[in-house]
Amino acid sequence: MRILLASSEVYPYSKSGGLADMVAALGKFLARAGHDVGLVTPLYRGIRERFRLLQPFRYRLEVPLGHATVSATLWTTAAPDGLRLYFVDQPAFFQRRGLYGEDDVAYADNAARFIFLSKAVAHLARHLTPPPEVVHVHDWHVGLVPLLIRDAAVRGGWREAPGTCLTIHNLAYQGVYPRAIYEATNLPWSYFTHEGLEFHGHVSLLKAGVAYADALTAVSPQYAQEIQTPEQGCGLDGLLRARAGRLSGILNGVDYEEWRTRNNPSLVHGYDLADPDGKAANKAALQHELGLPARPEVPLFGIVSRLVDQKGIDIELTALTELLASDIQVAVLGAGQPEFEEGFLRLADLHPEKVGVRLGYNHGLAHRIEAGSDFFLMPSKFEPCGLNQMYSLRYGTIPVVRATGGLDDSVIDIREDPARANGIKFHEYSSAALAKAIRKALALHGDPELVAHYRFNGMTADFSWDRTAAEYVAVYERIRRAAREAVPGATR
Ligand code: ADP
Repeated sequence: MRILLASSEVYPYSKSGGLADMVAALGKFLARAGHDVGLVTPLYRGIRERFRLLQPFRYRLEVPLGHATVSATLWTTAAPDGLRLYFVDQPAFFQRRGLYGEDDVAYADNAARFIFLSKAVAHLARHLTPPPEVVHVHDWHVGLVPLLIRDAAVRGGWREAPGTCLTIHNLAYQGVYPRAIYEATNLPWSYFTHEGLEFHGHVSLLKAGVAYADALTAVSPQYAQEIQTPEQGCGLDGLLRARAGRLSGILNGVDYEEWRTRNNPSLVHGYDLADPDGKAANKAALQHELGLPARPEVPLFGIVSRLVDQKGIDIELTALTELLASDIQVAVLGAGQPEFEEGFLRLADLHPEKVGVRLGYNHGLAHRIEAGSDFFLMPSKFEPCGLNQMYSLRYGTIPVVRATGGLDDSVIDIREDPARANGIKFHEYSSAALAKAIRKALALHGDPELVAHYRFNGMTADFSWDRTAAEYVAVYERIRRAAREAVPGATR
């Protein structure tokens, strides 16, 4: 099948979170399964310098953006598995220090930047030869694409328009902008309705996808259910319930070729189930790297996270403040809201021998914290899928998670199934409940046999991408079948 993916970030070219990992792996495993896969993404600053194999793609994009016409050139490269990348080179929009903003402040023109990117995707979908049969977009940045394609089919005479799929990685980010920005879409106002992309008088770019995509997916089965409730629907639960027949939940996979404990250039020592000793060596190296005392016996808790409300940082700081009276160590890597960054720095100031903090983005250290920690903390308020807990499982690091979204789908608590237990779960969103879960971790740490049981279950759990990619292909096939059955030229 010919599939065109689109995302505002893709690993290893650009990354702020799990979206980049997921899209890269989806593209790779679809291509490996024999599909013809392209992926459209912005050319951000530094990509050409870091990836010398990028070639100019002989196509010049020109799209209207309100009253202006914006042009862009394209760069392309083929990844080893056959995935073809298309980088949209629009320097005024994308050659910047950040992907979405700087110093925790979003760029003021993000609406224009990503409406432009969406138009570039829809335009390419129409002009690539051979054209894609399915266009699969990810999150709000390219949420407008399904509507742009549909409109081009209805009003622009695009008879063979591809089917569209939108994956919701995080409903909390919707790309909601003042009504005036609608001009930049060059779409008729008939779509600016309650059933369309209007959201309380504003434009919602994600809602455009939710309303008009042929298929919708969320990144875990539980999250697909949660977003249909008023509590977690972020104002779109009604529309999602109305479109429930087209919505499915597909748990993200893990790219075990990237997230591996052997021959991993980011790790100091290789290890695996058959040879677990290297894990202790990684712990010692991590303690050294973060300036913590090299003590093999102390339980070490890892945190790698965007430091934002969603991730439960408030209850984490409160719980740790209390638990740092115990003999524990904490390794933190993250960036985000200033109050959370300062909160961790304060903890490190108070307990320099127990807390090591690195602020910013550091790919290698993320791997080393996963490998060197005994436990991994993810007390998220909500978690669409979450990848870090799955990375932890493979790295033999026991996840302590709140039972929400993909965390609940991927971690098994001893109360659910003693034989398959691989982590510790708590339910209530409170620092007291988290502290209790951490105390359970401390008790578990004192029982090496039980730790070995959890580690075995974690390291043998299989979240490989072959299964995930096959589930997406099934969705694409449903879209294609529906398109074939539709009257040619009619709207879907
Ligand atoms: P989300 O996408 O909501 O941020 P996930 O758990 O799905 O959460 O994915 C997070 C991804 O981002 C993981 O690959 C994690 O290692 C990475 N990550 C998050 N923060 C950092 C950071 N400060 N440095 C390096 N990697 C990070």
